[in-house]
Amino acid sequence: MTHDPNCIFCKIVQGQIPSKKVHEDEHIYAFHDIHPWAPVHFLLIPKLHIPSFAQLGPEHVTLMGHMMTMAPKLALQEGCNPYPQGGFRIVSNNGAEGGQEVQHLHVHVMGGPRPWLRG
Ligand code: 5GP
Ligand code: ZN
Repeated sequence: MTHDPNCIFCKIVQGQIPSKKVHEDEHIYAFHDIHPWAPVHFLLIPKLHIPSFAQLGPEHVTLMGHMMTMAPKLALQEGCNPYPQGGFRIVSNNGAEGGQEVQHLHVHVMGGPRPWLRG
């Protein structure tokens, strides 16, 4: 399944739910988290509907390589200070015990001067 019509992140990718866009290309989409924990907090997702990291297979290696190598570039673009004095945090919640609330694979990218609201 490319898109899940009941998935809020698929709706965001398709523009059916508004979002504050950070980046978009053919394969990935990034947007500000609606409840930020840190001065910089955005979500980075594949456009393809994949429920979590648990469903990844060899067909996703290029996609995930692209997504994860974009994370530090977008962190700097959004105002994170450079590594190592600055830096950023990448978090992904997977499954109920992993604390996942939205069932579309995503990573949180957080950064900026501390203290943060959470984390
Ligand atoms: P997780 O599944 O990793 O626990 O958390 C999902 C994240 O998505 C949460 O941090 C939440 O604030 C964010 N979120 C949920 N719904 C929306 C939405 O409609 N728009 C945006 N921008 N973020 C959302
Ligand atoms: Zn989805």
